[in-house]
Amino acid sequence: MGKLVHPKAFLIAETKVDHAAMDHALLRLGVDGWASDGGTDADVLTEFAGKSCYMSFDKNLNLNLTKVGGRPNSAYIQDGIIGNKHGSVLEHSSVTFFLTNVSRVVTHELVRHRAGTAFSQTSGRYVRSDEIDMYLPDELAAYPEAVAVFQRAVREMEENIAELVEITGIEDMTDCGLKKRLTSAFRRLIGNGQANHIVMTGNHRAWRHIIEMRTSVHAEEEIRVIMGDVAQQLKAKFPTIYGDMECSDGECTFAHSKV
Ligand SMILES: Cc1cc2nc3c(=O)[nH]c(=O)nc-3n(C[C@H](O)[C@H](O)[C@H](O)COP(=O)(O)OP(=O)(O)OC[C@H]3O[C@@H](n4cnc5c(N)ncnc54)[C@H](O)[C@@H]3O)c2cc1C
Repeated sequence: MGKLVHPKAFLIAETKVDHAAMDHALLRLGVDGWASDGGTDADVLTEFAGKSCYMSFDKNLNLNLTKVGGRPNSAYIQDGIIGNKHGSVLEHSSVTFFLTNVSRVVTHELVRHRAGTAFSQTSGRYVRSDEIDMYLPDELAAYPEAVAVFQRAVREMEENIAELVEITGIEDMTDCGLKKRLTSAFRRLIGNGQANHIVMTGNHRAWRHIIEMRTSVHAEEEIRVIMGDVAQQLKAKFPTIYGDMECSDGECTFAHSKV
């Protein structure tokens, strides 16, 4: 019998800077000793990319410049990049989360975000669903009779799948192609609430937009839970890039929305 589960986001990867290569490249341009005080590689890369636009690593690189290096990395990013809505510079760094125990309600909505994202989701064709885990929405948890209906529906879905397993004899098959086709046929009986997992990569420009859209009070309950988790982790790890984000009652908004 499947379980009631709660979604959880794991930050599993992020962009890393090769600092030696960066120094080497600048040296070839005649810049010796440029350094950023950015706290993360994403901060440093954002500043590097931004400064490459005006060649503002050094006054000698752009004779139109009268001064360079007047701002710390945090002010450069929040005021110079984000405040001026030069959000494309934030696209150089990405973060990958493994979003676990999220329903297909959530994943179907997440994959609508195309710009700056990548997804790899549990395959409903390859992975059997004999046990169906579900997130019980708080909206239903308040009604004991509704919870019983929810649990009964899950049990019945599992009983139906078990019957199809028995009828088709899939357990004894060795033909993987046939097993895949049957597994895909079985899954049509399963509700959207089935918990599964998805690896989701986004660049920081995309994450800022997605967080704002999906933690909104107008967004769906479960997606607000998982994107709230993502937002808290990103703010903790990248305090500069998410410095203008404020969260209240699960809703996260940005002083500079959609950069
Ligand atoms: C509360 C809520 C309710 C929703 N209800 C529905 C619904 O009832 N039905 C439904 O179908 N969808 C619904 N959606 C999904 C919504 O319409 C978007 O498809 C989804 O949020 C993806 O966001 P996005 O369009 O900003 O795309 P992203 O891929 O996140 O793109 C980010 C931004 O890049 C730009 N961009 C991206 N792609 C293009 C492009 N091809 N051309 C030009 N500019 C582009 C846009 O400015 C876009 O906002 C809902 C979303 C929310 C948050």
